[in-house]
Amino acid sequence: MSKTRPDADPQDDLRVTPPKTYAAGVPAVAHAMEYSLAQAGPKRTMLTLLSLNQAEGIDCPGCAWPDPKHRHKNEYCENGAKHVNDEATTRRVTREFFAEHSVAELDTKSDMWLNHQGRLTEPMVKRPGATHYEPISWDDALGLVADELNALASPDEAMFYTSGRLNNEAAFLLQLFSRAYGTNNLPDCSNMCHESSGSGLGETLGIGKGSVSLDDIHESDLVFVVGQNPGTNHPRMLSALEETKRNGGRVIAVNPLPEAGLIRFKNPQKPSGVIGRGTPIADVFVKIRPGGDLALFQMLNRLLLEAEDAAPGTVLDHDYIAAHTTGFEEFAAHTRAVTWEHVLEATGLTREEIEGVHREVLAAGKVIVCWAMGLTQHRHGVPTIRELVSFLLLRGNLGRPGAGVCPVRGHSNVQGDRTMGIWERVPDSFLDALGTEFSFEPPRHHGFDSVEGVRAMRDGRARVFVGVAGNFVRAMSDSDVTEAALRSCRLTVQISTKLNRSHTVCGETALILPTLGRSDRDVQATGEQFVTVEDSMSEVHQSRGRLDPASPDLLSEVAIITRLARRTLGEGGAIPWEDFEADYALVRDRIARVVPGFDDFNARVAVPGGFRLPNPVNEGRFPTPSGKAVFTCNDLDMIAAPPGHLVLQSLRSHDQWNTIPYAMNDRYRGIHDARRIVMVNPDDIAELGLADRDLVDIVSIWTDGSERRAEGFRVVAYPAARGSAASYYPETNVLVPLDSVAEVSNTPTSKGVIVRLERVAGSS
Ligand code: SF4
Repeated sequence: MSKTRPDADPQDDLRVTPPKTYAAGVPAVAHAMEYSLAQAGPKRTMLTLLSLNQAEGIDCPGCAWPDPKHRHKNEYCENGAKHVNDEATTRRVTREFFAEHSVAELDTKSDMWLNHQGRLTEPMVKRPGATHYEPISWDDALGLVADELNALASPDEAMFYTSGRLNNEAAFLLQLFSRAYGTNNLPDCSNMCHESSGSGLGETLGIGKGSVSLDDIHESDLVFVVGQNPGTNHPRMLSALEETKRNGGRVIAVNPLPEAGLIRFKNPQKPSGVIGRGTPIADVFVKIRPGGDLALFQMLNRLLLEAEDAAPGTVLDHDYIAAHTTGFEEFAAHTRAVTWEHVLEATGLTREEIEGVHREVLAAGKVIVCWAMGLTQHRHGVPTIRELVSFLLLRGNLGRPGAGVCPVRGHSNVQGDRTMGIWERVPDSFLDALGTEFSFEPPRHHGFDSVEGVRAMRDGRARVFVGVAGNFVRAMSDSDVTEAALRSCRLTVQISTKLNRSHTVCGETALILPTLGRSDRDVQATGEQFVTVEDSMSEVHQSRGRLDPASPDLLSEVAIITRLARRTLGEGGAIPWEDFEADYALVRDRIARVVPGFDDFNARVAVPGGFRLPNPVNEGRFPTPSGKAVFTCNDLDMIAAPPGHLVLQSLRSHDQWNTIPYAMNDRYRGIHDARRIVMVNPDDIAELGLADRDLVDIVSIWTDGSERRAEGFRVVAYPAARGSAASYYPETNVLVPLDSVAEVSNTPTSKGVIVRLERVAGSS
């Protein structure tokens, strides 16, 4: 049985107000400015915001939503402003800070406290047996890592984790270094979020990326937003949906919780968003049970087949199906056997609700399905993606304007990092090109993903962990197991901008290597550099820091990786690491020769706004083994909670960026001054014999009979789907066992946790 960390914040201050019925508007601007000014002061705030998401400015690190072609002067959302100024903060973590606070003491602090200490300023080391971090020179730090790497019995005892903040140039160099060193152990944050999307799309369409552009969203007749909360996680998506609505399109939101951004959007760029009522977003809100989406799309597919039976030649696109797909007959037979009984049980919806969605589909020509973690972090995340692809294929909704698939990614360059080869199972064609370009034979066996990486550290098969950006220990499931795994390493290295939990969970030796942020000016031997990123819609463009770096002792990620490569692999090989550090354009020249779609990279990315990578689906090509898109037969899988139990999903609060809460509030949901809360439908609260604000432990149960416990949560009555519960990440990661993963993709099942709520004895 597992317990939570000792950093639990007291929940006695909890205040609950009615959930908001709109997102953004004037309050969002006020909150963004308040946080930004408190962190960065007026001058740095002005510098960051004026260049945020501008053609030659800073790419917002907040999420991977693309920039519109015609940009405003203020092209950011509340969260983007907060994220960039959280990084641009004037607060500093110095050697005196580390002398004052032991690692053990820091480990008792909350995630929010750690983040609020400010930017890291110089390399620090915690030596074996030491209680504190102490300063270390860059030369000694990189020498220490190189010695440890070279002392391993096999390169596969090392792993190089990446979060999606890493830019394309650094990502390309990191995977090159890892493979030149000898391992494909390149786990990334994608393993924990959209891996199911990549797997499902790759199997059915031959490419694991979305197919739509912003123009497609604008001109679509019907956009599904499924398992996603754009108002908090991708706020500028609401501007795109507002445009859809303005053009006469409709929006269907499918989610266990009614979210403010899905109800109404008050665009602060427009007078109607400031003084008016704003734009209603979802025409239909489908309050589905967590994990019921597979069943919903299966029934929508059955209803489309039946509608075609009733009026042959009017519903399905037979020419498209014949020309571009395989597997239709088997799929149709399988789908006709789907029963209402099972679908209603899995979704928690009524037949009338599903038939209402079906009528919307029949009335629409061009359809897009957007989704996020609400679909992917389930045991059946990959079958769900396959099923929604079949849904779109039935009416030819892939590869034409206004239609297609849209997995909306969180980290700003998570898609680009994968394109650059940060992938433990990268195709042989990529390794062939890499090996030819740099005259070496890359390892061919697959490496560790994030889950397998934790298993390997836990079992002593991995001894050195290098994390480039991110906060691995808080991002991963099974927090206690992940922490123990990292503590068992010989060496843990964190390349970071700010202090986080991963710095307090140390291997025998631990290093903190501070790096430039997106907003920092990056000057190398040949002059000022820019980096590039790829957004959720495959647009590649520049990002150029504008601020003086937080400290003179920071190195860019490119510089850290190239110097580490030189120390580990030795000087004088076929890879010109030193030249790459001096001039990032040379890295882009090599990317152009290795990565498909990047021809003439330097010239094309010099154009303001950059360029869009080709997507074969939009050219009517499906690079699957058959050369066609694939209809699939997926067994209906539902999360069956026993009586007295709920299905819990973990989610972020509005005042949070990835693993880091910025405040104790979740403004849109009306939760204030507390994070250890669990949102439950009032009817379920009554049925469970509980009361609003009861103090409970959340206990997860698993098929192997094991239980995990997260202690001390306040119950909050919330209009969630019956049978469901919602609580914050990363506090509830502890409830998800390491081995509870999605089929095929190995993604932790953080959105489908069967739990019971145990009232804490003697609590009030
Ligand atoms: S939508 Fe995402 S990328 Fe755009 S400003 Fe907001 S957080 Fe940044």
